[in-house]
Amino acid sequence: MSTDESPPVDDEERYRRLLDETGYDADLGLEMARDAQRVSAGDLSEVAFYERYHDRIVEEFATDEREIDLPEPDAAGGDTGDGGGYLDRLGAALSGMDPDGEESRRSVMKKGAAAAGALGLAGWGTAQNAAGQGGDGGAGAGDDDPDTRWGMTVNLNNCDGCLACAAACSQEHGLSEGANWMYVFAFEDEGQEDESLLPRTCQHCTDSPCTKVCPVGARHTRAEDGLVLTDYDICIGCRYCEVSCPYGVNYFQWGEPDVPDSEIPDEHQIDDRGRWVGARPPEGVMGKCTFCVDRQDGQMGEEKVGTTACEEACSMDAVHFGDLNDPESAPNRHLREYRDEHENDTDEFPDRKEDTVSTFKLLEERGTEPNVTFIGDEPSPHAEQVDGPVSYEEVGLVDNRKEVLDEGGAAAGGETA
Ligand code: SF4
Ligand code: SF4
Ligand code: SF4
Repeated sequence: MSTDESPPVDDEERYRRLLDETGYDADLGLEMARDAQRVSAGDLSEVAFYERYHDRIVEEFATDEREIDLPEPDAAGGDTGDGGGYLDRLGAALSGMDPDGEESRRSVMKKGAAAAGALGLAGWGTAQNAAGQGGDGGAGAGDDDPDTRWGMTVNLNNCDGCLACAAACSQEHGLSEGANWMYVFAFEDEGQEDESLLPRTCQHCTDSPCTKVCPVGARHTRAEDGLVLTDYDICIGCRYCEVSCPYGVNYFQWGEPDVPDSEIPDEHQIDDRGRWVGARPPEGVMGKCTFCVDRQDGQMGEEKVGTTACEEACSMDAVHFGDLNDPESAPNRHLREYRDEHENDTDEFPDRKEDTVSTFKLLEERGTEPNVTFIGDEPSPHAEQVDGPVSYEEVGLVDNRKEVLDEGGAAAGGETA
């Protein structure tokens, strides 16, 4: 393991412990997690990543179903014969690799992310302030951008830390104790007198490390709308996705869920493809925010499409969900209105235009292309988590994360009883 890309020791120890508990190969999980982040950062190609781990994955899991974003046939440098079948494309891509197996997709743009591509950072953002970035309200869309791309704009200036969003999410999805798919960080930062708040869901990354490492293909990106979901029927609980995610948003369901299957109607659990990806996971399976997939599929009525439980519960107008490809969607509109208002506020900011609006995406420099944009000041590397104005207990939730953070494990997702 190279030193500049090694995770901080505390994190590695925590992650190793966590992976050891699954009985699967912890070394493989850690190495893959690190390299998956390098792929997102543009410092390692998808194909090189695939090839590097294929044999070991097959040996450990008897299959290799990883989601990879293969180059289109032309880009792979040859005629694929059958119009670009997956295996043909893989073969063509492998033969087109450079001798070191390393090809940098975005090496210039992502130069700074190489060192930061280490595993195990603070799971809630540390990068330099990206004021003025993320102006379209969404992540950079790839060539194969789906028609719909669900995403959020979260206005930190509006959040008052009431935790109504977290409680609503837990209630709607039947989450077990400690699984806070919506987590609101309260933190103190240097140069700021008051504490700040940061509500955090899964970022539904367009270039997600978690989908790259899943050996069985359970963690995947839904082609129709970019949602990053876990197929509960397929997940074997190896926790590789959890270790690879820079945001600490995964919650492993160790024991029997608090809410039994019989209390959750099928339409909340099975998506429009017939896959079990909604509501809380069963025992031994990984869960995380789904962007309320059942709502997006119309299972809760047409009027709930393009909404989420956390957004609906927020009376402070902090959470705005919708289709980032639609200029008139709630996240795009909110961002635009906010910008217009503040960019034109020449009384308060006589000399500045765009830069008066601070927007950022968490750890954007890592190349994960998050689909959540924040309005407000980004936490600095010196931000420290503190107790918020309302405790999780007060809204009927349990917060395990802060304990883990206090112990030094930074990007802790969580476990449920
Ligand atoms: S934030 Fe969500 S989509 Fe992004 S890497 Fe983590 S689990 Fe995957
Ligand atoms: S989704 Fe399940 S099988 Fe896939 S990496 Fe995560 S824990 Fe492992
Ligand atoms: S989008 Fe839905 S699943 Fe995600 S945190 Fe909000 S309520 Fe929970």
